[in-house]
Amino acid sequence: MLSTIALRGASIVGGESLAGAGDTFYGFDPATGGRLDPEYHCASLDDLNRAAALAEEAFTTYGKLPGREKARSLRAIAAGIEAIVPELVERAHRETALPEARLKGESARTINQLRLFAQVVEEGSWVNARIDPAQPARTPLPRSDIRSMMRPLGPVAVFGASNFPLAFSVAGGDTAAAFAAGNPVLVKAHHAHPGTSEMVGQAIARAVKECGLPSGVFALLFGPGSQIGTALVDHPNVKAVGFTGSLAGGKALMERAAARPEPIPCFMEMSSVNPVFVLPEALRTRGAQIAGGLFGSFTLGVGQFCTKPGLVFLPRNADADALVAELKTQVEKAAVSPMLTEGIAKSYSSGVAARQAHGAVETLARAGVSDGAGSSCAVPVVMQIEGRDLLRDPKLAGEVFGPSTLVIRYENRDELMALARSLEGQLTATLHGTEADLAAFAGLVTVLERKAGRLIVNGFPTGVEVCHAMVHGGPYPATSDSRATSVGTYSIYRFVRPVCYQDFPQPALPDELKDENPLGIWRLVDGNWTREAVPAHS
Ligand code: NAP
Repeated sequence: MLSTIALRGASIVGGESLAGAGDTFYGFDPATGGRLDPEYHCASLDDLNRAAALAEEAFTTYGKLPGREKARSLRAIAAGIEAIVPELVERAHRETALPEARLKGESARTINQLRLFAQVVEEGSWVNARIDPAQPARTPLPRSDIRSMMRPLGPVAVFGASNFPLAFSVAGGDTAAAFAAGNPVLVKAHHAHPGTSEMVGQAIARAVKECGLPSGVFALLFGPGSQIGTALVDHPNVKAVGFTGSLAGGKALMERAAARPEPIPCFMEMSSVNPVFVLPEALRTRGAQIAGGLFGSFTLGVGQFCTKPGLVFLPRNADADALVAELKTQVEKAAVSPMLTEGIAKSYSSGVAARQAHGAVETLARAGVSDGAGSSCAVPVVMQIEGRDLLRDPKLAGEVFGPSTLVIRYENRDELMALARSLEGQLTATLHGTEADLAAFAGLVTVLERKAGRLIVNGFPTGVEVCHAMVHGGPYPATSDSRATSVGTYSIYRFVRPVCYQDFPQPALPDELKDENPLGIWRLVDGNWTREAVPAHS
């Protein structure tokens, strides 16, 4: 299919594509190594400054927009993306080598998450309105009238992720949450999918115009992280950062944000190895089935998921030997496929090689490589280590982004508990077990609750549902702030802060906090959740 969308190879500021003057680059097809037109122009620091000034100006109106109007704009963005799904999928497939079926699913997720946020802001109770009416007669001191609610932070910088060119990129979860909360968004496009980024950026700019919003509500900036990325994080108008990518990149940007004259909150999703624990009864009764599920999960999308299971804990017994044998058979037959970029493929092979070079690590199986495999291709590998060796060198448990996993064989329960306690922060931790297993290993669950944002029973960590209860977060280094999630509607709270209004006259209060509750939202009035108006003279 030939796309009918004109790509200009340009950043978008103030609703317009910029005429390019700066450095240039191209998108690449990782499957063929071929260059993809058009040529992309990097934004200049002047462009960025203008985008940030427009964003600040836009915030004065967008930050106060009623929920129903924000909902309208989120739905307009969703409809704009929905209208170009075939072109988007085609371009994203060429830029990332991800299968078209996966990209169609990712488009649907991107569109649906915008619509889900639209519902949340339209309903309105998410602002967490709290009202403690005045008590003038209280003794020994009267109480003032105290009301609070969540307000947006101001312009948010979003770094598009390489591994989700739609759902974690220009109109992805960070952007949807920031917009829903009432913040303008400045996106630093990922260089690995510039055409996809521009198509989505154009759809957002069109929706912004159609809804009559100030053009500064959105900007898309192309350029290297070392220039555009750092300048965005440094810019005084930027009030928060959303990022998905490497630990090194996320950490460098966090440090930068903390060193600003006015440090700002950063929500970085970085590095997780998503341990899987197979407990004895489950191992005995479903070992082969679990091996199949594990293989599917750690090779899904060429292992390029932040939730890829990278560590598998198995006892040293015959049931576990059978599971390992099944895993080996599947890995030997696995396909060798291109990764998102040549750089990511190189860092995968060097990560695997470093692990294999360790004397305590045994390579159990690797996929066979055919002659045609290009330099962006990744070979699925499964390795093994004894629990005691991992305890001696816990760095071996670090993330290797790509289709590999490490099996850890433990001798007994004490060793398993020590291994679990030695883990760093994770997005997920998975247990395969019967009810009896889970009762017998309740202590393991208690340890894992402190390690991970999401605990899964008898499933696999890849596949993150976008819903109200989802937590896609976890202690460092999984993320920079374990109190937050980057998936699901709860992620809106990353980009707001509570503001308290003391002794305000009724007309000066936001609608959410007025006595009569004109929006009909749920509020905590004097400690009780209610949708009723605040009683007179209460
Ligand atoms: P990345 O290198 O961290 O880059 C992500 C974004 O941040 C890019 O836009 C990049 O700009 C920018 N950036 C990176 N370091 C920066 C710095 N020091 N200062 C300013 N901006 C910076 O991630 P990636 O390109 O997606 O993949 C590289 C590696 O990250 C992978 O091999 C994998 O190990 C890891 N990764 C992990 C996850 C996960 O979910 N855990 C997801 C994706 C990637 P540029 O345009 O200059 O690159």
